[in-house]
Amino acid sequence: MAEQRDVRASGTLCDQLQITPEELRTRLAFLSFSPEDQQNLGEIGEVICSHVDEMITEFYDHLIRFEELREILFAPDLVQRLKRTQRQYLLSLGQLADDLEYAEGRLRIGFAHERVGLKQKWYLGAYSKLFELIVQRLTARYSGDARRLSSLILTLNRILTLDEIFVVETYYQATMQRLESSLQQLSEAHHQLIEISRLDPLTQVSNRRALMESLELELRRSRRYHHPFTLLFLDVDRFKEINDRYGHAFGDKVLQRIVQIAGGQVRPPDIIGRYGGEEFAIGLVECSPEGAQRIAERIRLKIAEFSFAWEQNRASVTVSIGVAMLTPDIDRVETLIDRADQALYEAKATGRNRVELYKDVTREV
Ligand code: GH3
Ligand code: MG
Ligand code: MG
Repeated sequence: MAEQRDVRASGTLCDQLQITPEELRTRLAFLSFSPEDQQNLGEIGEVICSHVDEMITEFYDHLIRFEELREILFAPDLVQRLKRTQRQYLLSLGQLADDLEYAEGRLRIGFAHERVGLKQKWYLGAYSKLFELIVQRLTARYSGDARRLSSLILTLNRILTLDEIFVVETYYQATMQRLESSLQQLSEAHHQLIEISRLDPLTQVSNRRALMESLELELRRSRRYHHPFTLLFLDVDRFKEINDRYGHAFGDKVLQRIVQIAGGQVRPPDIIGRYGGEEFAIGLVECSPEGAQRIAERIRLKIAEFSFAWEQNRASVTVSIGVAMLTPDIDRVETLIDRADQALYEAKATGRNRVELYKDVTREV
Protein backbone atom coordinates (compact mmCIF):
# COMPACT_ATOMS: atom_id res chain seq x y z
CA MET A 1 0.00 0.00 0.00
CA ALA A 2 2.83 2.35 0.91
CA GLU A 3 4.23 2.25 -2.57
CA GLN A 4 0.86 3.15 -4.05
CA ARG A 5 0.64 6.21 -1.82
CA ASP A 6 4.16 7.27 -2.86
CA VAL A 7 3.33 6.85 -6.47
CA ARG A 8 0.11 8.83 -6.20
CA ALA A 9 1.76 11.57 -4.19
CA SER A 10 3.93 12.48 -7.12
CA GLY A 11 1.56 11.73 -10.02
CA THR A 12 1.36 8.59 -12.12
CA LEU A 13 4.43 6.56 -12.94
CA CYS A 14 3.90 7.47 -16.58
CA ASP A 15 4.06 11.12 -15.55
CA GLN A 16 7.20 10.60 -13.54
CA LEU A 17 8.89 8.77 -16.37
CA GLN A 18 7.49 11.16 -18.95
CA ILE A 19 5.74 8.41 -20.86
CA THR A 20 3.12 10.14 -22.98
CA PRO A 21 0.90 8.52 -25.64
CA GLU A 22 3.32 9.90 -28.21
CA GLU A 23 6.30 8.42 -26.35
CA LEU A 24 4.55 5.05 -26.16
CA ARG A 25 3.85 5.10 -29.91
CA THR A 26 7.52 5.92 -30.55
CA ARG A 27 8.62 3.01 -28.37
CA LEU A 28 6.33 0.59 -30.21
CA ALA A 29 7.54 1.94 -33.55
CA PHE A 30 11.13 1.45 -32.47
CA LEU A 31 10.32 -2.19 -31.69
CA SER A 32 8.83 -2.38 -35.26
CA PHE A 33 5.43 -3.09 -33.75
CA SER A 34 2.92 -3.32 -36.62
CA PRO A 35 -0.80 -4.01 -37.13
CA GLU A 36 0.23 -7.61 -37.79
CA ASP A 37 1.66 -7.77 -34.27
CA GLN A 38 -1.61 -6.40 -32.95
CA GLN A 39 -3.45 -9.28 -34.67
CA ASN A 40 -0.89 -11.80 -33.51
CA LEU A 41 -1.43 -10.73 -29.93
CA GLY A 42 -4.99 -12.02 -30.17
CA GLU A 43 -3.73 -15.49 -31.08
CA ILE A 44 -0.97 -15.41 -28.50
CA GLY A 45 -3.61 -14.40 -25.96
CA GLU A 46 -5.72 -17.47 -26.83
CA VAL A 47 -2.76 -19.79 -26.39
CA ILE A 48 -1.86 -18.19 -23.07
CA CYS A 49 -5.47 -18.38 -21.93
CA SER A 50 -5.73 -22.11 -22.50
CA HIS A 51 -2.44 -22.86 -20.69
CA VAL A 52 -2.27 -20.12 -18.11
CA ASP A 53 -2.44 -22.29 -14.98
CA GLU A 54 0.20 -24.80 -16.02
CA MET A 55 2.49 -21.97 -17.16
CA ILE A 56 2.21 -20.23 -13.81
CA THR A 57 2.94 -23.47 -11.96
CA GLU A 58 5.96 -24.14 -14.13
CA PHE A 59 7.13 -20.54 -13.76
CA TYR A 60 7.02 -20.63 -9.94
CA ASP A 61 8.55 -24.12 -9.82
CA HIS A 62 11.42 -22.63 -11.73
CA LEU A 63 11.74 -19.61 -9.45
CA ILE A 64 11.86 -21.56 -6.20
CA ARG A 65 14.77 -23.62 -7.43
CA PHE A 66 16.87 -20.62 -6.42
CA GLU A 67 17.60 -19.98 -2.77
CA GLU A 68 17.50 -16.20 -2.94
CA LEU A 69 14.05 -16.34 -4.52
CA ARG A 70 12.84 -18.95 -2.05
CA GLU A 71 13.70 -16.50 0.72
CA ILE A 72 11.45 -13.86 -0.84
CA LEU A 73 8.69 -16.28 -1.80
CA PHE A 74 8.48 -18.07 1.57
CA ALA A 75 4.98 -16.88 2.58
CA PRO A 76 2.18 -18.89 0.95
CA ASP A 77 -0.24 -15.96 0.85
CA LEU A 78 2.37 -13.77 -0.85
CA VAL A 79 2.91 -16.48 -3.45
CA GLN A 80 -0.84 -16.78 -3.97
CA ARG A 81 -1.07 -13.03 -4.47
CA LEU A 82 1.85 -13.00 -6.86
CA LYS A 83 0.35 -15.87 -8.80
CA ARG A 84 -2.91 -13.98 -9.17
CA THR A 85 -1.04 -10.89 -10.37
CA GLN A 86 0.99 -13.06 -12.70
CA ARG A 87 -2.21 -14.53 -14.11
CA GLN A 88 -3.66 -11.10 -14.81
CA TYR A 89 -0.35 -10.07 -16.27
CA LEU A 90 -0.26 -12.99 -18.70
CA LEU A 91 -3.89 -12.68 -19.68
CA SER A 92 -3.52 -9.00 -20.48
CA LEU A 93 -0.15 -9.34 -22.22
CA GLY A 94 0.01 -6.85 -25.03
CA GLN A 95 -3.67 -5.96 -24.89
CA LEU A 96 -4.10 -2.32 -25.81
CA ALA A 97 -0.32 -1.96 -25.65
CA ASP A 98 -0.54 1.48 -27.19
CA ASP A 99 -2.68 2.72 -24.31
CA LEU A 100 -1.15 4.62 -21.38
CA GLU A 101 -3.19 2.48 -18.98
CA TYR A 102 -1.23 -0.51 -20.17
CA ALA A 103 2.10 1.22 -19.56
CA GLU A 104 0.93 2.42 -16.14
CA GLY A 105 -0.14 -1.10 -15.14
CA ARG A 106 3.18 -2.57 -16.25
CA LEU A 107 5.15 0.12 -14.43
CA ARG A 108 3.17 -0.48 -11.25
CA ILE A 109 3.91 -4.19 -11.31
CA GLY A 110 7.60 -3.39 -11.68
CA PHE A 111 7.41 -0.89 -8.85
CA ALA A 112 5.71 -3.41 -6.55
CA HIS A 113 8.35 -6.05 -7.26
CA GLU A 114 11.12 -3.59 -6.56
CA ARG A 115 9.47 -2.72 -3.25
CA VAL A 116 9.28 -6.34 -2.08
CA GLY A 117 13.02 -6.53 -2.66
CA LEU A 118 13.16 -8.58 -5.85
CA LYS A 119 16.44 -7.76 -7.53
CA GLN A 120 16.34 -6.61 -11.10
CA LYS A 121 18.47 -9.53 -12.28
CA TRP A 122 15.72 -11.97 -11.20
CA TYR A 123 12.92 -9.90 -12.63
CA LEU A 124 14.56 -9.48 -16.00
CA GLY A 125 15.69 -13.12 -16.02
CA ALA A 126 12.12 -14.21 -15.34
CA TYR A 127 11.06 -12.59 -18.62
CA SER A 128 13.30 -15.02 -20.46
CA LYS A 129 11.62 -17.91 -18.65
CA LEU A 130 8.17 -16.54 -19.49
CA PHE A 131 9.20 -16.13 -23.09
CA GLU A 132 10.35 -19.77 -23.15
CA LEU A 133 7.12 -21.05 -21.58
CA ILE A 134 4.92 -19.20 -24.05
CA VAL A 135 7.09 -20.12 -27.05
CA GLN A 136 6.80 -23.81 -26.06
CA ARG A 137 2.99 -23.53 -26.17
CA LEU A 138 3.02 -21.61 -29.44
CA THR A 139 5.38 -24.14 -30.97
CA ALA A 140 3.10 -26.97 -29.94
CA ARG A 141 0.12 -25.29 -31.58
CA TYR A 142 1.79 -23.93 -34.74
CA SER A 143 4.38 -26.64 -35.37
CA GLY A 144 3.07 -27.15 -38.90
CA ASP A 145 3.25 -23.48 -39.85
CA ALA A 146 6.81 -22.19 -39.49
CA ARG A 147 6.02 -18.75 -40.98
CA ARG A 148 3.11 -18.18 -38.65
CA LEU A 149 5.10 -19.43 -35.68
CA SER A 150 8.04 -17.16 -36.40
CA SER A 151 5.72 -14.16 -36.80
CA LEU A 152 4.07 -14.92 -33.45
CA ILE A 153 7.42 -15.37 -31.71
CA LEU A 154 8.61 -12.02 -33.07
CA THR A 155 5.46 -10.36 -31.74
CA LEU A 156 5.91 -12.03 -28.36
CA ASN A 157 9.52 -10.85 -28.24
CA ARG A 158 8.49 -7.28 -29.03
CA ILE A 159 5.79 -7.08 -26.41
CA LEU A 160 7.96 -8.66 -23.73
CA THR A 161 10.82 -6.32 -24.62
CA LEU A 162 8.45 -3.36 -24.21
CA ASP A 163 7.64 -4.63 -20.71
CA GLU A 164 11.27 -5.30 -19.85
CA ILE A 165 12.16 -1.72 -20.71
CA PHE A 166 9.42 -0.59 -18.33
CA VAL A 167 10.92 -2.78 -15.60
CA VAL A 168 14.37 -1.27 -16.00
CA GLU A 169 12.85 2.19 -15.82
CA THR A 170 10.76 1.54 -12.70
CA TYR A 171 13.75 0.09 -10.88
CA TYR A 172 15.77 3.13 -11.85
CA GLN A 173 12.95 5.44 -10.78
CA ALA A 174 12.55 3.70 -7.44
CA THR A 175 16.29 3.98 -6.80
CA MET A 176 16.20 7.66 -7.72
CA GLN A 177 13.26 8.26 -5.37
CA ARG A 178 15.10 6.58 -2.53
CA LEU A 179 18.22 8.59 -3.28
CA GLU A 180 16.27 11.83 -3.39
CA SER A 181 14.58 11.05 -0.10
CA SER A 182 17.94 10.16 1.53
CA LEU A 183 19.39 13.35 0.14
CA GLN A 184 16.54 15.34 1.59
CA GLN A 185 16.93 13.70 5.00
CA LEU A 186 20.64 14.39 4.86
CA SER A 187 20.08 18.00 3.96
CA GLU A 188 17.55 18.40 6.81
CA ALA A 189 19.99 16.82 9.27
CA HIS A 190 22.70 19.12 7.93
CA HIS A 191 20.52 22.18 8.51
CA GLN A 192 19.64 21.01 12.01
CA LEU A 193 23.33 20.52 12.76
CA ILE A 194 24.13 24.01 11.54
CA GLU A 195 21.33 25.38 13.70
CA ILE A 196 22.57 23.46 16.73
CA SER A 197 26.17 24.51 16.12
CA ARG A 198 25.07 28.16 16.15
CA LEU A 199 23.21 27.98 19.44
CA ASP A 200 24.47 28.31 22.97
CA PRO A 201 23.26 25.09 24.61
CA LEU A 202 22.45 26.69 27.97
CA THR A 203 20.50 29.77 26.92
CA GLN A 204 19.42 28.80 23.39
CA VAL A 205 20.53 32.12 21.92
CA SER A 206 23.34 32.53 19.38
CA ASN A 207 26.73 31.39 20.56
CA ARG A 208 29.72 33.68 20.18
CA ARG A 209 30.57 32.62 16.61
CA ALA A 210 26.99 33.01 15.34
CA LEU A 211 26.62 36.24 17.30
CA MET A 212 29.73 37.74 15.70
CA GLU A 213 28.54 36.70 12.23
CA SER A 214 25.11 38.25 12.73
CA LEU A 215 26.56 41.45 14.18
CA GLU A 216 29.05 41.67 11.31
CA LEU A 217 26.25 41.30 8.76
CA GLU A 218 24.07 43.88 10.46
CA LEU A 219 26.93 46.29 10.88
CA ARG A 220 27.68 46.16 7.14
CA ARG A 221 24.01 46.57 6.25
CA SER A 222 23.56 49.52 8.63
CA ARG A 223 26.69 51.20 7.27
CA ARG A 224 25.57 50.72 3.67
CA TYR A 225 22.11 52.17 4.25
CA HIS A 226 23.16 54.68 6.93
CA HIS A 227 20.79 53.15 9.41
CA PRO A 228 21.37 53.51 13.14
CA PHE A 229 22.66 50.41 14.91
CA THR A 230 23.40 50.13 18.61
CA LEU A 231 25.06 47.49 20.70
CA LEU A 232 24.28 46.62 24.30
CA PHE A 233 26.88 44.70 26.25
CA LEU A 234 25.40 43.11 29.33
CA ASP A 235 27.28 41.56 32.23
CA VAL A 236 25.78 40.01 35.34
CA ASP A 237 26.89 41.78 38.48
CA ARG A 238 28.88 39.82 41.02
CA PHE A 239 27.84 36.59 39.39
CA LYS A 240 30.67 34.69 40.96
CA GLU A 241 29.07 35.39 44.34
CA ILE A 242 25.70 34.06 43.13
CA ASN A 243 27.38 30.83 42.06
CA ASP A 244 29.31 30.60 45.27
CA ARG A 245 26.28 31.19 47.45
CA TYR A 246 23.57 29.23 45.61
CA GLY A 247 25.53 26.83 43.45
CA HIS A 248 26.39 26.62 39.77
CA ALA A 249 23.03 25.10 38.82
CA PHE A 250 21.23 28.08 40.29
CA GLY A 251 23.62 30.34 38.36
CA ASP A 252 22.70 28.51 35.17
CA LYS A 253 18.99 29.12 35.81
CA VAL A 254 19.73 32.79 36.41
CA LEU A 255 21.48 33.06 33.05
CA GLN A 256 18.57 31.37 31.27
CA ARG A 257 16.04 33.66 32.91
CA ILE A 258 18.10 36.80 32.20
CA VAL A 259 18.17 35.86 28.52
CA GLN A 260 14.38 35.39 28.57
CA ILE A 261 13.85 38.76 30.21
CA ALA A 262 16.24 40.58 27.86
CA GLY A 263 14.81 38.74 24.84
CA GLY A 264 11.34 39.90 25.84
CA GLN A 265 12.39 43.54 25.52
CA VAL A 266 13.74 43.40 21.96
CA ARG A 267 12.18 42.97 18.52
CA PRO A 268 12.54 40.00 16.14
CA PRO A 269 15.22 41.51 13.86
CA ASP A 270 17.42 42.39 16.85
CA ILE A 271 20.37 40.16 17.59
CA ILE A 272 20.95 38.51 20.93
CA GLY A 273 23.81 36.20 21.77
CA ARG A 274 26.08 34.92 24.46
CA TYR A 275 29.48 36.53 24.15
CA GLY A 276 30.94 34.37 26.91
CA GLY A 277 30.37 33.33 30.54
CA GLU A 278 27.83 35.77 31.98
CA GLU A 279 28.21 38.34 29.22
CA PHE A 280 25.63 38.87 26.51
CA ALA A 281 25.54 41.18 23.52
CA ILE A 282 22.36 42.61 22.02
CA GLY A 283 22.41 44.32 18.63
CA LEU A 284 19.51 46.73 18.23
CA VAL A 285 18.61 47.22 14.59
CA GLU A 286 17.34 50.64 13.41
CA CYS A 287 17.59 51.94 16.92
CA SER A 288 18.91 55.32 18.00
CA PRO A 289 21.24 55.60 21.03
CA GLU A 290 18.43 57.19 23.03
CA GLY A 291 16.05 54.38 22.15
CA ALA A 292 18.76 51.85 22.91
CA GLN A 293 19.44 53.42 26.27
CA ARG A 294 15.72 53.21 27.07
CA ILE A 295 15.61 49.53 26.14
CA ALA A 296 18.78 48.85 28.14
CA GLU A 297 17.30 50.64 31.13
CA ARG A 298 14.11 48.56 30.83
CA ILE A 299 16.12 45.33 30.70
CA ARG A 300 18.22 46.41 33.70
CA LEU A 301 15.13 47.29 35.73
CA LYS A 302 13.15 44.14 34.84
CA ILE A 303 16.09 41.98 35.92
CA ALA A 304 16.68 43.95 39.11
CA GLU A 305 12.99 43.60 40.02
CA PHE A 306 12.83 39.92 39.25
CA SER A 307 13.00 37.39 42.01
CA PHE A 308 15.15 34.52 40.77
CA ALA A 309 13.94 31.32 42.38
CA TRP A 310 14.97 27.71 41.93
CA GLU A 311 14.47 24.81 44.27
CA GLN A 312 14.59 26.34 47.79
CA ASN A 313 16.74 29.34 46.79
CA ARG A 314 15.61 32.82 45.95
CA ALA A 315 17.83 35.74 45.00
CA SER A 316 17.94 39.16 43.41
CA VAL A 317 20.37 39.70 40.60
CA THR A 318 21.44 42.85 38.83
CA VAL A 319 23.19 43.50 35.57
CA SER A 320 25.30 46.31 34.18
CA ILE A 321 24.95 47.31 30.55
CA GLY A 322 27.31 49.23 28.28
CA VAL A 323 25.79 50.91 25.21
CA ALA A 324 27.69 51.90 22.06
CA MET A 325 26.30 53.17 18.78
CA LEU A 326 27.62 52.58 15.31
CA THR A 327 29.43 55.65 14.03
CA PRO A 328 30.94 56.17 10.55
CA ASP A 329 34.46 55.55 11.85
CA ILE A 330 33.57 52.01 12.93
CA ASP A 331 34.03 49.34 10.29
CA ARG A 332 34.59 46.31 12.51
CA VAL A 333 32.29 44.66 15.04
CA GLU A 334 35.22 44.27 17.42
CA THR A 335 35.49 48.08 17.67
CA LEU A 336 31.80 48.41 18.49
CA ILE A 337 32.06 45.67 21.11
CA ASP A 338 35.18 47.27 22.53
CA ARG A 339 33.34 50.56 22.97
CA ALA A 340 30.31 48.90 24.56
CA ASP A 341 32.73 47.06 26.84
CA GLN A 342 34.36 50.34 27.84
CA ALA A 343 30.92 51.73 28.70
CA LEU A 344 30.21 48.54 30.66
CA TYR A 345 33.44 49.00 32.57
CA GLU A 346 32.28 52.49 33.44
CA ALA A 347 28.94 51.12 34.67
CA LYS A 348 30.76 48.61 36.87
CA ALA A 349 33.17 51.23 38.17
CA THR A 350 30.37 53.62 39.10
CA GLY A 351 28.43 51.16 41.23
CA ARG A 352 26.95 48.38 38.97
CA ASN A 353 23.21 47.84 38.24
CA ARG A 354 23.62 50.71 35.78
CA VAL A 355 23.37 51.49 32.08
CA GLU A 356 26.23 53.52 30.67
CA LEU A 357 26.54 55.01 27.20
CA TYR A 358 29.94 55.00 25.51
CA LYS A 359 31.49 58.44 25.38
CA ASP A 360 34.34 59.22 23.04
CA VAL A 361 36.66 60.89 25.56
CA THR A 362 39.16 61.81 22.81
CA ARG A 363 36.55 64.19 21.37
CA GLU A 364 35.66 65.79 24.64
CA VAL A 365 37.28 69.13 25.29
P1 GH3 B 1 31.37 41.58 38.02
O1 GH3 B 1 30.23 42.26 38.70
O2 GH3 B 1 32.61 42.38 38.13
O3 GH3 B 1 31.05 41.18 36.65
O4 GH3 B 1 31.65 40.28 38.90
P2 GH3 B 1 31.41 38.81 38.48
O5 GH3 B 1 31.49 37.94 39.67
O6 GH3 B 1 30.15 38.67 37.70
O7 GH3 B 1 32.58 38.56 37.48
P3 GH3 B 1 33.67 37.46 37.37
O8 GH3 B 1 34.25 37.59 35.99
O9 GH3 B 1 34.61 37.50 38.53
O10 GH3 B 1 32.87 36.10 37.45
C1 GH3 B 1 32.04 35.63 36.45
C2 GH3 B 1 31.50 34.33 36.90
O11 GH3 B 1 30.61 33.81 35.95
C3 GH3 B 1 32.56 33.28 37.09
C4 GH3 B 1 32.06 32.07 36.39
O12 GH3 B 1 32.15 30.91 37.13
C5 GH3 B 1 30.62 32.41 36.13
N1 GH3 B 1 30.11 31.75 34.94
C6 GH3 B 1 30.55 31.85 33.67
N2 GH3 B 1 29.83 31.04 32.86
C7 GH3 B 1 28.90 30.44 33.63
C8 GH3 B 1 27.87 29.48 33.38
O13 GH3 B 1 27.62 29.03 32.26
N3 GH3 B 1 27.10 29.10 34.43
C9 GH3 B 1 27.35 29.57 35.68
N4 GH3 B 1 26.57 29.16 36.64
N5 GH3 B 1 28.33 30.43 35.94
C10 GH3 B 1 29.10 30.88 34.95
MG1 MG C 1 32.10 39.17 33.03
MG1 MG D 1 29.92 39.77 35.92
